[in-house]
Amino acid sequence: MRQLEQTNKDLLAMTRARAIMTSVVLIMSLLVTYNVWRGARQSAIDNLQSNFEFRTSELNDRIRQRLTVYEQVLSSGVGLFHASEEVSRDEFRRFFEALRLGERFPGIHGVGYATIVAPDALDRHVRAVRAEGFPDYTVFPPGPRPVYTSVVYLEPFTGSNLRAFGFDMYSEPIRRAAMDQARDSARAAISGKVTLVQESGNDVQPGFLMYEPVYRDGGASQTIADRRRSIVGWVYAPFRMVDFMDGLEGPHPPALDIEIFDGETIERSALLFDAEKSGVAIEAPTPLKRISRVEAANRIWTVVATARPEFEAGSLTDRPQLLLQSGIAISLLLTLLIWLFLDDRARALHAARQAMQLALYDPLTGLPNRKLLDERLTQALVKQKRSSGHLALLFIDLDKFKPVNDNFGHAYGDLLLKEVAHRLLACVRESDTASRLGGDEFVALLADVEGPHGVAVVADKVLRQLNAPYEISGQVFEISASIGAALYPEHGTDAKSLVRSADLAMYAAKDAGRANVQFAPLPSRRAAPDLKSS
Ligand code: GH3
Ligand code: MG
Repeated sequence: MRQLEQTNKDLLAMTRARAIMTSVVLIMSLLVTYNVWRGARQSAIDNLQSNFEFRTSELNDRIRQRLTVYEQVLSSGVGLFHASEEVSRDEFRRFFEALRLGERFPGIHGVGYATIVAPDALDRHVRAVRAEGFPDYTVFPPGPRPVYTSVVYLEPFTGSNLRAFGFDMYSEPIRRAAMDQARDSARAAISGKVTLVQESGNDVQPGFLMYEPVYRDGGASQTIADRRRSIVGWVYAPFRMVDFMDGLEGPHPPALDIEIFDGETIERSALLFDAEKSGVAIEAPTPLKRISRVEAANRIWTVVATARPEFEAGSLTDRPQLLLQSGIAISLLLTLLIWLFLDDRARALHAARQAMQLALYDPLTGLPNRKLLDERLTQALVKQKRSSGHLALLFIDLDKFKPVNDNFGHAYGDLLLKEVAHRLLACVRESDTASRLGGDEFVALLADVEGPHGVAVVADKVLRQLNAPYEISGQVFEISASIGAALYPEHGTDAKSLVRSADLAMYAAKDAGRANVQFAPLPSRRAAPDLKSS
């Protein structure tokens, strides 16, 4: 019974150990999964970041390239003026037709020439142009000014471009600033944000102009004073910003939200281009945001690029997510496998214990059987021989037990035997062994007894306990026991002789009328021990 309790304790401990071990495996494998996932996610984010950087740099390069190409277009126009004394309207048209602007340079709204007209030459100039077949030509806006300029040529000379014919760009401060800058630097210059005179009122876009100066002396001027003196006009190009940006954003739908500001400050009034027309890219919560500067033709633009959801969707791989999911699945599977493996082991151990139980314990009462008693007796004897102490055996046989079986049935007999085992166990110490040899025979091995007197005390206690009435399933049984006692070393020095002595003493008790204790007689060679006195 004690053994059974021990087995239960072991099982409980094993279950606890198994729970701890599987928890540890689960936690460890989830930790590994988490780390792997974090690494994969970080590298995906890094990837995304560098991809974003690349795309925004690429965009800036494209803007710069496009501006440079237009600068070259204007330079070639300047070349035309430097190559001939006078460039006629027709020559200008043919030259730019040859450039095939429309096909080769998307976004350019036209290329024109603005000439400088001194106030005293204004009337003559207007008359001359009208004489070319443009009777409505005039330089506008009207009013006296120290110097006039006029868009005399603008190719293609059709549609909304006609609205700019005769416009004095120098009369408008933003354009004038760029014209002055181009004149003084002898290089192309881009204006600030303007609304082109070509705009008709619907779909009005911000625009800008690019100017290349034309000097009287063919561009040989060295000083700013020289340049101011010899400037005759500007080859220029008007741009509508949305048209200019067309095709620069890469594949559609665009992955980047782009805003371009004129100058170096980000403010609504300087907003040249807003891809999403939201005007809030700068405030977008995405970590993928880049503010950069594009410098071309004497001007700086600020480009604010943010990643649209499409960018992340197109660039982020499912790898981290997949790793996380499969990691969790593998962790759970591993935990389950280990749990099952440990469960199997626990079951095997439990089964082994049960087989051992069968081999060494009496299945009815749970007490050690004859084999285990023999083992324990042999061990106890070895120990006693070293310490020269005493040990004793009580051989117990129930009196008139068979009639219980006969009159009430085997089941009652079994229950009675179990109760006897229970009472016997209660009479002995933890270090003693109460065993059942079989039938109604029990043996108590008392280790470390103080001598015959101590044995007699225990034997009496057992006798009293076993003789007390039994109540089993409402039935009261009066039964007694006959007990034979044998001591080591007095009644035998080995297991076999000790058991035999106790057995004989039990028979003596039976002979003496049952329900009593008898000590084994001393071997004939020796004198009988004085049991009472010790
Ligand atoms: P005595 O007073 O001389 O000891 O006679 P008794 O009736 O006790 O009979 P004895 O000790 O000679 O025999 C023991 C009986 O116990 C024999 C058998 O019927 C019965 N018995 C043996 N094993 C079991 C068991 O496992 N269960 C039950 N219920 N009875 C058993
Ligand atoms: Mg009996």
